[in-house]
Amino acid sequence: MIFPLEQDYLSWSEKYNIRIKTAKCPKCGVDIITNIPFAIKGYRGLKSDDHGCGEKYTRKVIVPTSKDEKEFWSKIAGAM
Ligand SMILES: [Zn+2]
Repeated sequence: MIFPLEQDYLSWSEKYNIRIKTAKCPKCGVDIITNIPFAIKGYRGLKSDDHGCGEKYTRKVIVPTSKDEKEFWSKIAGAM
């Protein structure tokens, strides 16, 4: 399940270290940019808007941010 978030995509990108991608739609050639923050379980991402060609032609960038991963890194930080 995807949760769309009302949040500034630049700060979202910075917070989760997600690279913003731009590309041309292979169908209609319009420029698309991944500027919509979203969250799914264990992951954070950015996706492009559906500009009329359908979900298939939207772009997504996803990074893992699982709880286990966060605990792992906080343990390491605590040990150092
Ligand atoms: Zn298109």
